[in-house]
Amino acid sequence: MEIIKGIPASTGIAIGRIRYYAKSEYQSRQYLTSNIAHELKEFDKAVKAVYDQLSLLYEKTKTENPSLAAVNLRQRNLLQEKSFLFAMEDLIQSKKVSAVFAVATVREDVKKSFGRLSDEIAAVRVSDVTQLCCYLIDVLGGYSEKIDLGEDEQILIAGDLTLEELVSMNADKLLGIVTKDGSETCHAAIFSRTRAIPMVMGVTITREWEGQTAIVDGYTGMIYLSPDEEELKEYMLRKETDEKERESLLSLRDAKDLTADGKLVSVYANIGSLDDIESVIYYGASGIGMLRSEFQYLGRDDYPKEEELFQSYRRVAEAMGDRLVVIRTLDLGADKQAAYMNLTKEENPLMGNRGIRLCLDQRGMFKTQLRAIYRASIYGNLSVMYPMICSIEEMEMIREITAEVKAWLTVRHMPYRDIPEGVMIETPAAVMIARELAEASDFVSLGTNDLSQLTLAMDRQNPALREKYNVHHVSVMRMIRMVIDAAHEAGRKVCICGELAADADLTQELIQMGVDSLSVVPALVLPVRKAVRQAHAEAILREGL
Ligand code: PEP
Ligand code: MG
Repeated sequence: MEIIKGIPASTGIAIGRIRYYAKSEYQSRQYLTSNIAHELKEFDKAVKAVYDQLSLLYEKTKTENPSLAAVNLRQRNLLQEKSFLFAMEDLIQSKKVSAVFAVATVREDVKKSFGRLSDEIAAVRVSDVTQLCCYLIDVLGGYSEKIDLGEDEQILIAGDLTLEELVSMNADKLLGIVTKDGSETCHAAIFSRTRAIPMVMGVTITREWEGQTAIVDGYTGMIYLSPDEEELKEYMLRKETDEKERESLLSLRDAKDLTADGKLVSVYANIGSLDDIESVIYYGASGIGMLRSEFQYLGRDDYPKEEELFQSYRRVAEAMGDRLVVIRTLDLGADKQAAYMNLTKEENPLMGNRGIRLCLDQRGMFKTQLRAIYRASIYGNLSVMYPMICSIEEMEMIREITAEVKAWLTVRHMPYRDIPEGVMIETPAAVMIARELAEASDFVSLGTNDLSQLTLAMDRQNPALREKYNVHHVSVMRMIRMVIDAAHEAGRKVCICGELAADADLTQELIQMGVDSLSVVPALVLPVRKAVRQAHAEAILREGL
């Protein structure tokens, strides 16, 4: 057994087999080659490298883990089979493709043709071939593919995971996630918490873990590789208790969001895809405080059409009935990139042409989304809000665009409602003009993830800053208070939709600052509701800030 300490990013306990995900460097477009001899040589070198790796692995595992050693040996022997190698060499020669593309093609062909065989021996063979191809691809520099966890539930380990990779994979098979990079507020962590998938980050992962059993403790950040019987038993028990505790919180599903002294502080859910609606309803959230609308723009080859967007928003609105649904308009850029948009590579994407700035540049795209939102507005209790706002001028431009959108709908006799429009305060500039922004909108939502990183001038994804990144920094807490005061003076309500809202240790403090609602990942709605119900809205707490 090996014990590794990482950083907990999403609570819960996962026990299962590890699947190693090798990041791509190649793009699928770059597959044709004019230098066949070079590609054949590269292929040959990769085969030798994987052969040596498997020999080493075999030596390392043969006494401690004979069954794993047997797999290593079997796969190593397969590398000497002419028919296996020929399939790839032939592709390189006949189709003039790169070695990595040839291997990836063979892997996909094998999976497609033989992936569902019920014969056990054949299934083992398919799994060996697929895994060998992955090893070869890794040595050859990687090849862009969608993550496919296959039929069995697995723990995914990777260097890092983008939102695009996560939304395009079969996440229902995800038991847990372990990554090297990332931070508590990066989108992979938010994704895991949304789906209640235990996650640990900051771990030096290696491909040798592939196939091993592991325990991932999302509370402590501990990972147990090939755990012994005793540890496994202990963790099965802990997992059971953990699940029972989560279940006991379910009694709060229909409870009111009232503090102990009777103030209403609504607990909403943040969602990042339509699949999350189920958990919003399951956990009894009072509404959706932020629908991150990027999900329909990521993991695909082209822009979504208006009709597709409309149908999705309509589905959310109808599913939630009277309950509030706030759609956050497209917030691409920085760590959320859609390849088909061909955006210029930026030196500093965190401060780049992202969020509302991008939408105001790409008006056609923005209007398409707004039309879809307004068309869906008649099916429920919708609001819209805008990300990364920095100036009143941006709000004015948005107002002009929404007016055009509404006029367009009116002319075509397409019904819509004049839904509330909110401003996201997630830049220090927006904090300083919070009063004016609040007056220019109907409600305010604090995006503390971006606000923290921009205030601290620290990239929330940078692992080197993990120890230095203080999510409770007094500057951010003061800003939250400033924004709440400014918005209330303007007669507007304030929600917090950044990850800070889910920190139950802060619930009382935030409520005493006057926050009106908190929006958190669905799996944390009940713990936060519990904290709200225990909190007292009336208190002194003004010192120290
Ligand atoms: C935020 O910045 O706090 C926020 C809610 O937006 P996102 O995390 O999607 O950038
Ligand atoms: Mg943000």
